[in-house]
Amino acid sequence: MDRLGADAPRPTACAWMGRGKHCVTYRLRRGELANFVGVVERDDWTTESWAQRGTRAEALADFAGWHPTIQRLLSEADELYRWALFDRAPLATWVEGRVALMGDAAHPMLPFLAQGAAMAVEDAWTLASCLSQDQPVHQALKAYEKQRFARTAGVQAGSRANAKTFHKRTRLGQLVTYGPMYLAGKIAPHALYARQDALYAHDVTALH
Ligand SMILES: Cc1cc2nc3c(=O)[nH]c(=O)nc-3n(C[C@H](O)[C@H](O)[C@H](O)COP(=O)(O)OP(=O)(O)OC[C@H]3O[C@@H](n4cnc5c(N)ncnc54)[C@H](O)[C@@H]3O)c2cc1C
Repeated sequence: MDRLGADAPRPTACAWMGRGKHCVTYRLRRGELANFVGVVERDDWTTESWAQRGTRAEALADFAGWHPTIQRLLSEADELYRWALFDRAPLATWVEGRVALMGDAAHPMLPFLAQGAAMAVEDAWTLASCLSQDQPVHQALKAYEKQRFARTAGVQAGSRANAKTFHKRTRLGQLVTYGPMYLAGKIAPHALYARQDALYAHDVTALH
């Protein structure tokens, strides 16, 4: 953040949207670090890795002509990684015998609602709670799956839908989508926030 000066990203998480691509900026570690996540649609790349390095030139080319904050973040970034994002449909089941899947293994999702890790934490609490009740393990695992399946499938679907919202390719599409969002943000911001309640007001600990 020290190096970014007037080009530092806002303190709130900020989604920047464009044709077939978007990016998200936010601050980390009490505001000491700025993070940038850029998402570009392409179908010619299938490497599954969380440790593959990207190049600055490639990142700058992907976001050429974007806001100075974006250009500066990419120019100053210490490390650049690149991930391929893969979307998968919900699985038929997460449980077999005494084995259960949780987190991304159970419900991988595009990161466009920023909820993958949040879902994994919710899974963990629910799983622990089900296993601590007096019932056979397989039954406890099935109870866990039952309590979590609809919620995570809904978030998977919402994340997928956001890919379309974020990547509008035509001026008309952008106007029709972002115009009402902008107005709602000005006129009735609380109505806009209330739409997020399905995500953020969900309390797994209250269900037991
Ligand atoms: C660009 C991006 C941005 C994201 N932003 C957000 C966000 O803002 N908020 C949010 O909530 N989520 C976000 N997520 C999603 C989040 O990172 C994942 O949902 C979360 O990390 C899933 O946790 P997990 O423990 O299920 O799986 P992982 O984090 O994938 O952990 C699995 C671990 O198992 C290890 N492993 C694999 N195979 C083996 C093996 N055979 N033996 C031993 N170990 C093994 C792996 O190395 C890994 O460490 C984002 C994801 C991406 C890609």
